[in-house]
Amino acid sequence: MIQVKGYAAQTPTSDLAPWSFERREVSPHDVQFDIMYCGVCHSDLHQIRNDWFEGIFPMVPGHEIVGRVKKVGSNVKKFKVGDLAAVGCQVDSCRECENCKDGLENYCLNGNSQTYNGLEQDKKTPTYGGYSNTIVVHEHFVLHVNEKLNLPAVAPLLCAGITTWSPLRHWKVGKGHKLAVLGLGGLGHMGVKFGVAFGAEVTVLSTSAKKEADAKKLGAHHFVVTTDKEQVKKARGSFDFILDTVSAEHDLVFYLNMLKTNGVHICVGAPSKPYSLSPFPLIVGRKSVVGSGNGGIPETQEMLDFCAEHNIVSDIEMIDIKNIHNAYERMLKGDVRYRFVIDMATL
Ligand code: NAP
Ligand code: ZN
Ligand code: ZN
Repeated sequence: MIQVKGYAAQTPTSDLAPWSFERREVSPHDVQFDIMYCGVCHSDLHQIRNDWFEGIFPMVPGHEIVGRVKKVGSNVKKFKVGDLAAVGCQVDSCRECENCKDGLENYCLNGNSQTYNGLEQDKKTPTYGGYSNTIVVHEHFVLHVNEKLNLPAVAPLLCAGITTWSPLRHWKVGKGHKLAVLGLGGLGHMGVKFGVAFGAEVTVLSTSAKKEADAKKLGAHHFVVTTDKEQVKKARGSFDFILDTVSAEHDLVFYLNMLKTNGVHICVGAPSKPYSLSPFPLIVGRKSVVGSGNGGIPETQEMLDFCAEHNIVSDIEMIDIKNIHNAYERMLKGDVRYRFVIDMATL
């Protein structure tokens, strides 16, 4: 077994602290890479606190992982030692079901292996994430990263990037569309960058008036402060799509009013409590509420290649792993500009 240093929560109420654990030896189809940077996703906080479901503890969070390959198995074709490598939200799946065959491992019908707080395909070995110094993953789930991109700023593409890319591509959002990105945090700021890159007219809907200048710098064309009644009134009936990245409870109907007829509200944010929704705001104007969960391996590679071609990365604030709880506190207050990334050299 490989000895690994990481940061773990021992229980849903304890803080993250140093923890040593083991990963499997590199088998013929595995890639081992040393983790250099790991992004901090709001899902990490939801999961260490059991916001969604009873988690598997000790829990080592982190699913926005980049580093350099240290060792490859004898049958590995995609990678060699020294290559850049990245891993996102899944480390395995059945690779046989209809969805896996379609490149939608994120929707594996037999249950995929989430990068942490999940189980390997043997359905009994817990998975541990990227707040650690090294990882071993089947080569199918390891992505290539272009050397020309700023590596720490690539890390958030593995979740915040693909989670916003995938629905925008699936619903073919682009030229001629008015897209609203709801919530300007980690996911939201990538939604703005991709929406703009795909040619949509992008509006940020935010509770934080002070983020307006940043939104414009990210490429957004308009900014609506959702606590300002006049601005909200003007936005009524104006969007084809709303990409909802909000992490906390909020009133969907308030936002559905801002959609045009046939408009689509895309939920990627995952608050812990169910939404309350009457059919009437959907019936009047034939509106849809849909959801999307990160992305499959082929589309993740496509996104990373697009980012290399168009020079797109995240706007990040690098942190020492010792300050992870301070980062979580700021994230809860909406004070993220626009993704914290852990420098794993501080581990
Ligand atoms: P984040 O960086 O904390 O951003 C969330 C943003 O939502 C905040 O910055 C804030 O933006 C806004 N917000 C927070 N509370 C709000 C409230 N009560 N009402 C309205 N807006 C509010 O979080 P993140 O990492 O982007 O993740 C966002 C959510 O997506 C989380 O729930 C996460 O678990 C989920 N997620 C889902 C997937 C998936 O596969 N579907 C993948 C990754 C993450 P403003 O200051 O602009 O208002
Ligand atoms: Zn995430
Ligand atoms: Zn499958």
